[in-house]
Amino acid sequence: MKIRSVETMIVDIPFHDGGKGEGIGPTTWNTLEIALVRVEDEDGFVGWGEGFGYFVTDATKAVVDRMIAPVLVGTEVDDVPAWNLATQKRLHLFGRYGVTMYAISGVDIALWDLKAKRAGLPLHRLLRAEEADAPSPVPFYASLVRYADDAIAPRVCAQALERGFRDLKLHEITLPHVRACRAAVGAGVPMSVDVNCNWSDAFARDAIAPLIEQGASWLEEPIFPPEGYAQLAALRGHGLPIAAGENWCTSVQFEHALAAGAIDFAQPSVTKVGGVSEFVAVAEACGRAGVPLLPHSPYFGPGMHASLQLAAALPGVRQLEYLYVQPDAWLAPLGEPGEGGTFAVPEGPGLGFEPDPDVLARYRRA
Ligand SMILES: [Mg+2]
Repeated sequence: MKIRSVETMIVDIPFHDGGKGEGIGPTTWNTLEIALVRVEDEDGFVGWGEGFGYFVTDATKAVVDRMIAPVLVGTEVDDVPAWNLATQKRLHLFGRYGVTMYAISGVDIALWDLKAKRAGLPLHRLLRAEEADAPSPVPFYASLVRYADDAIAPRVCAQALERGFRDLKLHEITLPHVRACRAAVGAGVPMSVDVNCNWSDAFARDAIAPLIEQGASWLEEPIFPPEGYAQLAALRGHGLPIAAGENWCTSVQFEHALAAGAIDFAQPSVTKVGGVSEFVAVAEACGRAGVPLLPHSPYFGPGMHASLQLAAALPGVRQLEYLYVQPDAWLAPLGEPGEGGTFAVPEGPGLGFEPDPDVLARYRRA
């Protein structure tokens, strides 16, 4: 496929979470920012991708516009992983991980969408060598933002269960807030705890017993730095599974983490890790190590559709993440969750993502 154009756009969609807007981000977080990548080939096929995300979309867009698009336009790309690796080599001096890889991720996803559309297949079928039955709906857990409030967080937990989700994840970082949520939903609801690297090694170690007491399903990103593989490994084996990986990029970091025995669950994020190409390589490495995947997927654009396609294609994926907020609009709606908090895998060609032109026009910022 010969690439005719690469276009980037930033879409800002306000959302509501019922909280005080003080969550995890560097400033008030009340808008879903989506860095969209649109790739078109000379035959008129169009692929969509998404590079991470949130407050960093302008930087992601700039990397695509200034360092990737000028080289990609006019070239033939048939082997997307080979394009990905060549681009990593060309850009490594700008930082192997972080924004450079978010930009590569967005373009990689768009190229895979394009390739699958040219083949007339949904991406999950293109990724699987053999013929397969229609995929089952993919199970999701509801992932709540951090409320740090003993009234709001338990209320939102109850709302998520009413919407049809069976599993919850909290981003609360104090044990009293976790206990308040558990008290609200009762003992039977699977509930994991993600502290986004906020705890010291000692605090995390001491928190394991009380979290087990609260019935936590897993503890996510307990310590800083996120790539502290030996520190993570030391927290394993005490009865509470350790999950991490949303801030690791490329299969290289996952290979290092797996070799160190850092995780019980791997959490690659398709818009950060290096797109579909690197996600597949990560899943293969995890398969060899016997480590299941719980991908990071709090996305509202092509990143979500790519995550669904990967979950359908890769047997190691157990569940996906649904960021439990209410956006004012969807570029391409997923609809309401089905039985037990599941979403169907799009069966149209590519990712199954086609942006609503009115939503795109209304919320596009750049
Ligand atoms: Mg997380």
